[in-house]
Amino acid sequence: MRKLWLSAVIALSSFTAFSQPNGWNDPFPPHKVMDNMYYVGTKELASFLFVTPQGNILMNSDYESSVPVIKASVEKLGFKFSDIKILIAGHAHPDHVGGDNLVKELTGAQVVVGRVDEAKTKDFHPEGKQHPIDRLVDDGDTVTLGGTTLTAHIMPGHTRGCLAWSTNLKENGKTYYAFIECSLNGQFLQSLDNYPGMVDDFRATYKKARTFPVELWVSSHASFYNMAAKYEKLQKRGPGDPNPFVDPEGYKAHVDQYEKSFEAALAAPPRQGKGKGKQDK
Ligand SMILES: [Zn+2]
Repeated sequence: MRKLWLSAVIALSSFTAFSQPNGWNDPFPPHKVMDNMYYVGTKELASFLFVTPQGNILMNSDYESSVPVIKASVEKLGFKFSDIKILIAGHAHPDHVGGDNLVKELTGAQVVVGRVDEAKTKDFHPEGKQHPIDRLVDDGDTVTLGGTTLTAHIMPGHTRGCLAWSTNLKENGKTYYAFIECSLNGQFLQSLDNYPGMVDDFRATYKKARTFPVELWVSSHASFYNMAAKYEKLQKRGPGDPNPFVDPEGYKAHVDQYEKSFEAALAAPPRQGKGKGKQDK
């Protein structure tokens, strides 16, 4: 098991030299997650659209080169890209906020970024442009549009200001606590900021992650929540079958797994001859 995990780490680490790992931007069929929440991201970079009567909210623009993929997915679902009124960020890495300028240009949406990640977010924009931040949010702040409210939860570690978001979604008369994770990924220590206090932040974040009453969950990367497998289940879902994205046990297992991988990375001897790679996940 440990060997398997190590080989996965090595495989993922080999992405570190590239700003846009191979295949991450490939299209993936857009789909309804639940209620008014839709997946419009790429094969690996998760973006979500919340559709409301007063316009739509997009979470995560991904890379600038991902934006046309996201736009095509939004349109495939029958929605207009220009109806996006608010763009929300998860965390200040280029694979999640690199497309903010282009989304802003195409939609005029209000760009909402976590205050703690503000300075880092400004690093990711096309040359000669400034990052288009319109509103800064703190832990517990909400974003509301057309009856949908998303609440920000600061989950520091992966970045200092990593933001998870929660909302309520309805299906078949039941309301579900939906959680859009930031990233709990702390296994690529050499490529994270490694700021003073990062280790304490990660440990507190793994604890905090267990305090949310999570029913439905997704994350900033499709692979974090086994999106492809859950999508397969969704395709085969019959009347009365559970929604595959409702997975509280899978969420707990995910937190356990990422806490373990972080502690293992901390305990491991430093890698030999490594450059200062960039792993954006
Ligand atoms: Zn990241």
